Amino acid sequence: MTNLTSRSKIVSNKKMTFWERIYLPAILGGLRITFGHLFRKKTTVQYPEVQREFSDIYRGKHVLKRDDEGRERCTACGLCAVACPAEAITMVAAERKPGEENLYREEKYAVVYEINMLRCIFCGDCEEACPKEAIFLTKEIVHSEYHRDELIYGKDVLVEPMDPAKRIDVSKRQTPEVLAFKQNKKFKHNR
Ligand code: SF4
Ligand code: SF4
Repeated sequence: MTNLTSRSKIVSNKKMTFWERIYLPAILGGLRITFGHLFRKKTTVQYPEVQREFSDIYRGKHVLKRDDEGRERCTACGLCAVACPAEAITMVAAERKPGEENLYREEKYAVVYEINMLRCIFCGDCEEACPKEAIFLTKEIVHSEYHRDELIYGKDVLVEPMDPAKRIDVSKRQTPEVLAFKQNKKFKHNR
């Protein structure tokens, strides 16, 4: 018979021996492997009582950062939304009014900023795309909810606290070179 493709394999169809037909040696072999695992170091943890330590660059829940003076960094440029492959980010831009300079870093800011966590695949593209160091992913995991609406995170959940002691440290998410590049005032988008 001619092979249909070059990848086809002739399989052996040999008759099973007596021991193969009664399956006992195979079952005992399987049990030996199972019992062997009982005395090894466990690779599982008793979640949620015990939680694993996540890597510093784990991609979990997002945070919208403030600058050193507590102003929101996001300028509603929309680059994160464009970069998002899951179309999970939506925002509404607004113009900063006189007297709001202490709240928003740029003349334009996001009056509404939402991430649909049901769509998000935690790829980190939004973090990469942001020219203002405004959005980062964090080590915090997104918890399950009973209602879908609760998984659409708005600014109330995403923007980090004003209190400097409660700010979220994201310095380990970037290499020193990237950090230096993003803080270089020579580039207009860093000013
Ligand atoms: S992590 Fe990826 S999927 Fe999630 S919001 Fe950012 S770009 Fe979209
Ligand atoms: S988070 Fe960054 S990329 Fe997204 S709208 Fe704000 S400034 Fe632009």
